[in-house]
Amino acid sequence: MKYAFPPLPPVTIPVAGTDLHFPVHRIYCVGRNYVEHAREMGFTGREPPFFFMKPADALVVVGAGCIGEIPYPPRTSNLHHEVELVVAIGQGGHDIDAADAGRHVFGYAVGLDMTRRDLQNAAKEQGRPWEIGKSHDASAPIGPIVRREEAGEIARAAISLTVNGEARQASSVTKLIWSIEEIIGHLSQHWTLQPGDLIFTGTPEGVGPVVRGDLMLARIEGVGMLEVRVV
Ligand code: MN
Repeated sequence: MKYAFPPLPPVTIPVAGTDLHFPVHRIYCVGRNYVEHAREMGFTGREPPFFFMKPADALVVVGAGCIGEIPYPPRTSNLHHEVELVVAIGQGGHDIDAADAGRHVFGYAVGLDMTRRDLQNAAKEQGRPWEIGKSHDASAPIGPIVRREEAGEIARAAISLTVNGEARQASSVTKLIWSIEEIIGHLSQHWTLQPGDLIFTGTPEGVGPVVRGDLMLARIEGVGMLEVRVV
């Protein structure tokens, strides 16, 4: 086959403790999946799950022990951090039973759903799609993927984020409104999941702005840490 121009290389994420790289297919994100975050955004937390996507090339892959960098994105003056547990799908399927969802999970990563909150809020008010607030370049920093069997009891893991050493977000995966298994069940009713899909599972309360020079440190117990500077 002759390409009209050279295709971009696939986006991949290193698998911790191995020489494997996880090839990324799609990025699904869950909106408002922690009660206290739903409340801080003006909702009750009892709504059914809903989803949006980011393009795979919005990932900024940060290797173990490295500090990643993201440029402050254009057309915003209110860039927010959202620390999230990311589920990496290793086995695809549709209409997956939540009780059977665990075997579709390859592993987990620490991710940041960076959000141009001012643009997202304007889109919400006008009933428009969220991409302009959520899916910009470099909007999805992510650390290495830890295989499911090595992540421990992820459903009970602590999740946190500091900015320049100051605590901003601190919660537990136990506070997810929709569990990892339920999310996979819901998502797979609407799309056929493929190996390589990532699911950003939502952020706990405490979201807020970052500016150029800020250093974000995200941690999830059993998965590791992710350090990213805004430049
Ligand atoms: Mn989010």
